[in-house]
Amino acid sequence: MCAPASFDRKEMTVGLALAVHGGAWNVPDAEVRAHREGVAIALRTGWEMLCGGAAALDVVEAVVRVLEDDPTFNAGRGSHLNRLGRVEMDASIMQGTRLEAGAVAAVQRVRNPVSLARRVMEASPHVLLVGEGAQRFAQEQGVPLCRARDLLVGKARERYLRIRSGAVDLVDQEFSADEDDRYLGTVGAAALDALGHTAAATSTGGTLNKYPGRVGDSPLIGAGTYADDLAGAASCTGWGEGIIRVVLAKTAIDRLAAGVQIDAAGQAALADLARVDARAGILLVDRYGRARSYFNTPRMARGLATAEQGLRVGVDPAMEPLA
Ligand code: ASP
Repeated sequence: MCAPASFDRKEMTVGLALAVHGGAWNVPDAEVRAHREGVAIALRTGWEMLCGGAAALDVVEAVVRVLEDDPTFNAGRGSHLNRLGRVEMDASIMQGTRLEAGAVAAVQRVRNPVSLARRVMEASPHVLLVGEGAQRFAQEQGVPLCRARDLLVGKARERYLRIRSGAVDLVDQEFSADEDDRYLGTVGAAALDALGHTAAATSTGGTLNKYPGRVGDSPLIGAGTYADDLAGAASCTGWGEGIIRVVLAKTAIDRLAAGVQIDAAGQAALADLARVDARAGILLVDRYGRARSYFNTPRMARGLATAEQGLRVGVDPAMEPLA
């Protein structure tokens, strides 16, 4: 835990804040521990960076890379397979000072899609590249492509093998699976640094057995990710089709910008989700250094760190301090 690094900027007090998530869904009991440990490692990594003076943008990228590399989560290594048995990933990143953003969607063979999203932001005139174009851009940028099977691990690999053996009826699985089982472990982060700059990033393998080419909220700026130094930063997870329709991240940030308190903004986000009958979660960091999570799924793997409250992690609604 670093010393409370806060200072006055005009009339407001700014403190460091970091929020990370590993997905909002009905995490099975047997996987709770791995989820808690995974977000704890990511939270510590990011918090040490923030305390050392790192920029929010670098912190959210590093945190999401840690979670992408952890096969517990549905992002990078461990991503779910689409109905053709392929990994197609989505990611985005945004910094709130100049409202710059980058994103990739339906991208294959990239180990850390969040870093490719950052390249799009910094080394291209575009915001969003998809599929083959995103992969071509990765090669041009010297981002090494991995083998498709390097991304297939753990549960996703087991499902892949079952699918290849013909043991799973894909159409039946898509339409009859328990709804909660489709919201699987996207990762994300939102941060406020010592200079008062905000950033957010989100990365996912999407929903299990999705239609090829399906894109969720995670790479859509305003839906899955948003950051604005005048208000705060947000990263979302859950049923993307619902999150997109209420433009969840930007709508929540707009409320913060309008002066709504963070908990009221979080509750309003849940009310927005109820309108489209969507189960999801959102991380919010505000410009005053508060970090919160809100979700209407049974569980959400997440970690929150602020100068004032220290580090906390949780998968169930209650959170525990991190020693
Ligand atoms: N929001 C992601 C999507 O719809 C899934 C998730 O958060 O687990 O692609």
